[in-house]
Amino acid sequence: MSEKPEKLIDKKGIRLDGRKADELRPLKLQVGVLANADGSAYIEHGKNKIIVGVFGPREMHPKHLSQPDRMVLRCRYHMAPFSVQERKSPAPSRREVELSKVIREALEPSVFVDLYPRAGIDVYMEVLQADGGTRCAAITAASLAIADAGIPLRDLVVGCAAGKIDDTVVLDLYDAEDKLGAADVPVAIMPNLNAVTLLQMDGILTPAEFETAVGMAVEGCKKIYAMQKEALRTKYMTVKEEAEE
Ligand code: ADP
Repeated sequence: MSEKPEKLIDKKGIRLDGRKADELRPLKLQVGVLANADGSAYIEHGKNKIIVGVFGPREMHPKHLSQPDRMVLRCRYHMAPFSVQERKSPAPSRREVELSKVIREALEPSVFVDLYPRAGIDVYMEVLQADGGTRCAAITAASLAIADAGIPLRDLVVGCAAGKIDDTVVLDLYDAEDKLGAADVPVAIMPNLNAVTLLQMDGILTPAEFETAVGMAVEGCKKIYAMQKEALRTKYMTVKEEAEE
C-alpha cells in the first residue's frame, strides 16, 4: 500500500479488511506435511503462509556446538524470495537473523532440553508468503512441528500480535496495519503454564494501551492454541485410522 488511507478503522470499528478490532484473521493449521522431516507443520494465518520442518533430536553438527548437559535448539526463520511483492534476496537479512534468535528464545522454554544431552534439533521456518505477523505465525507452526517430531514439551507455544491503528488497539495486524499503524506488540505464550515467552513492542503506546494490547494478544493466542491442539488431534486420528485399517 503506497498511500496511507485516511482511516485504518472506521467509526463503526471496522478495519480496512472488514475485521472488528478484536477479530483474528482466518487460520488454517496442518501437522505432518513434509515426508522428509522428523516433524512438520504448515500455517496459513491470514495471507501469511509458512511451512516448518524439524529435524532431530540428532547428533549436533558441528560437534563443538553441542552441550554436555542439554540439547541445543537451532532455529532458522527465512523468507522466500517470492514471499513479498518486491523480490527479497535469499541471503539471510539482519531481520531474519534477529527473528531466528527471538523465535528460538520463544520456543526453548517449552522443550525439555535436558532430556537429550549433546543432541540438537533444527527448526527450519520458511515463509512462503508474508503479510504481517510472521514471527508469531512461525512460532505457532514451529511449536506444532516440534510436537510432531515427538519431542517432549511442557506446553505448546502460540504467538499472536496486537497493536494500535489510528487511536484504537486491535488484534492481529496485517501488513498494511503494521506499516501504517502506530504500534505492534507480538506476544507468544505457553497457555497451560500461563507463561510469556515472547514480548516485543514496535512503536509507541501508553501504559494503559500496552496492557490492553497484551491482554488482547493473549486472548488471541488462546483461540489459536485451541486450533493447534485440534491440528495435532487431526493428525493422530488419521494415523490411528490408518493403523486400524
Ligand atoms: P512480522 O512479520 O513478525 O510482523 P515485521 O514487523 O518485521 O515482522 O514485518 C512485518 C511485515 O513486513 C512482514 O510480515 C512482511 O509482510 C513485511 N516485510 C518484511 N520484510 C520484508 C521485505 N524484505 N520486503 C517486503 N516486505 C517485507
